[in-house]
Amino acid sequence: MSRVVQQPSVSASPAALLQHVRAGRASSRAELAALTGASRNTISSRVDQLIGADLLVEGGRGDSTGGRPPTLLQFNSRAGCVLAVDLGVTSVDVAVTDLSARVLATAGHPMDIAEGPHAVLAEAVRLGAEVLAAAGLSDADVRAVGVGVPGPVEFSTGRPSHPPIMPGWHDHPIPEAFARWPVPVVVDNDVNVMALGEMGVTGSDLDVLVVKVGTGVGCGVVVEGRVYRGAQGSAGDIGHIHVAAPDDRSVLCRCGNTNCLEALASGSSLLRDALAAGLPVTSTRDVVGLAARGDGPALELVRQAGRTIGTVLAALVNFFNPHRIVVTGGVAHAGLPLLSGIRESVYARAMPLAARTLAVELSAAPELSGRVGAALMAVEACLDEDGVRGALHA
Ligand SMILES: [Zn+2]
Repeated sequence: MSRVVQQPSVSASPAALLQHVRAGRASSRAELAALTGASRNTISSRVDQLIGADLLVEGGRGDSTGGRPPTLLQFNSRAGCVLAVDLGVTSVDVAVTDLSARVLATAGHPMDIAEGPHAVLAEAVRLGAEVLAAAGLSDADVRAVGVGVPGPVEFSTGRPSHPPIMPGWHDHPIPEAFARWPVPVVVDNDVNVMALGEMGVTGSDLDVLVVKVGTGVGCGVVVEGRVYRGAQGSAGDIGHIHVAAPDDRSVLCRCGNTNCLEALASGSSLLRDALAAGLPVTSTRDVVGLAARGDGPALELVRQAGRTIGTVLAALVNFFNPHRIVVTGGVAHAGLPLLSGIRESVYARAMPLAARTLAVELSAAPELSGRVGAALMAVEACLDEDGVRGALHA
């Protein structure tokens, strides 16, 4: 015989309540009470605390379900700002955003990451001060800093770990460079940051693979809307998975193995193969540009790279069964040729049940997702349990 038991209430901490309002799941005290199972008194006192800390504001009246219509609650995304730092191999970009990751001001320029952590981070701090001034904000408004770097990072400490294309950066304590702002500083690799950016400001609870095809190949793994980092932070490092070469050749990878995905289908391999084929190019960007303009040989090189990437993605689809695959990075600017190559392999090789409703698409704004992602990472850091508790007792 079954009996009705009281469901244990999901967390009704101030941070959890704030998250429900931010995500649009609740917009009144009554809805928060219904959602969490907590008492109206508990909800009311915690909502009052959040209003006192300026994180929630009251505005307007909702639809009445009989009695007095409820006062609507809104997240106050102007309760502070975050700095979003996007370090590329050849660029440094900084944005200041509100707490909904809406960009308020941005600045950046080309800079070689090989100039080392002291020079590059000093420049990031200088740009941070510049965008704050441009947005009419001060150092005291900054709630957190998010930083994306083009290499592996130990997420808990914010230190790069043997980054292959960031000489001098191994084990450098990146957060310490931002001591001007005594707030949480979160550092992650660029692919995870881009993956967050692709999830967008409103968030999503979908399972998504975000594949970056640039100089190398990497993959951000998003599980129910959150970036999955694995035991040491290296989840999604698909660039060194072994693949079959289309013409049975053996190509040495910079990691020392042969026929890694990155050795056969990345920005650098495209340039190598285009030069070998005698195409008039000096950079990956040239190859991608030729393909986008419909040049036959360049187009076939890009499409073949797509097919090779697709064989790895087909295996990942069978294993992970994502809702979507989003393709981003410099080579994604080639557009349809890359996408059609990827789709060809994925739909040919993935199991029908996993492939049936799978969407494989290009990023809508690849140049912005690094900064938006770094901002979202910073926002999550300042609005987690500790961050909200701190704000309530400030
Ligand atoms: Zn390799």
